[in-house]
Amino acid sequence: MPFQLKGQTIARSMLDHYLNGSAPPLLILHGPAGVGRFSAAEWFIQSSLCETGNGCGQCPSCRLFARQEHPDYILFPEDRVLIGDEKQPAPFTVRWLIRTRLMYPPFKSERRFILFPRSDLIQNEAETALLKTLEEPPEHSRFMMLVEDLSLLKETIISRGVCVPFHLIPSATMAEITGQSDPYTLDLMGGSLELSSVILDQSFQRLREKIEDGLGHPMGLHELETYVSLEKNFQEWKTHLDKSYEEILDLIGLMILKSSERLPDFPLIAEAVFQLKAGLHKRMAGMTHYHLSRFFARISRILFGH
Ligand SMILES: [Zn+2]
Repeated sequence: MPFQLKGQTIARSMLDHYLNGSAPPLLILHGPAGVGRFSAAEWFIQSSLCETGNGCGQCPSCRLFARQEHPDYILFPEDRVLIGDEKQPAPFTVRWLIRTRLMYPPFKSERRFILFPRSDLIQNEAETALLKTLEEPPEHSRFMMLVEDLSLLKETIISRGVCVPFHLIPSATMAEITGQSDPYTLDLMGGSLELSSVILDQSFQRLREKIEDGLGHPMGLHELETYVSLEKNFQEWKTHLDKSYEEILDLIGLMILKSSERLPDFPLIAEAVFQLKAGLHKRMAGMTHYHLSRFFARISRILFGH
């Protein structure tokens, strides 16, 4: 069982069931971001295509899958899905899918899988064409759609599929998955695996220490400000989390909030953090450092009176 499915008891039993039997024409995996819907879908598809049926990782099919070259796995992009040009539809449009793939049997395996990671971004015409396909699904093709909230999909689509629910992960399970027993880290992850890749990283622990130092004495705060103001210190986080520098700063604000919970000045610090967040959310070019230095000046006044 992949770790992504730990804590997701309903989703796990449903996917296990369909893996051993036959998958329905459309599976809709729904639930909040960062709880493992995408990796669960990929695990399911890899296992279904695998020559030994368990996603062994060794067979030719699994190796193709790992290189993202399996010809019977079609992963649609994470942005808009369009109907495509009538005459010459571009790859990864719905017309392209229907004409150049669904019309034909799979290349290598018994089944072909088509995954839409953001099924809420399928455009109207494309959706209508897909619906027609789903009314009489091609024998050899299986669809999977991911969505955060079912209300973002049309009833007609939902009625053609089987819905597989994902939930935020309970903290006991988060602790087991990530090996973290520390309530600080578990709280910060908030039941989502999205952050676990950086939280388990050494740079996260270092930053956390810097924050504790910064809340303790003025020199520490100055060092923290210098560290946080250098965007390049967070290059790896940006890549791992696929987030902008501003979004990372938002996360750091949350860490400062967590670390100052027990301080008498907590309400004032919280207010400063929320002001920083509000400033960052305005996304005004070149303003990031202005908001940061105002934030640190405020924290310094609150904690050290200057
Ligand atoms: Zn295999």
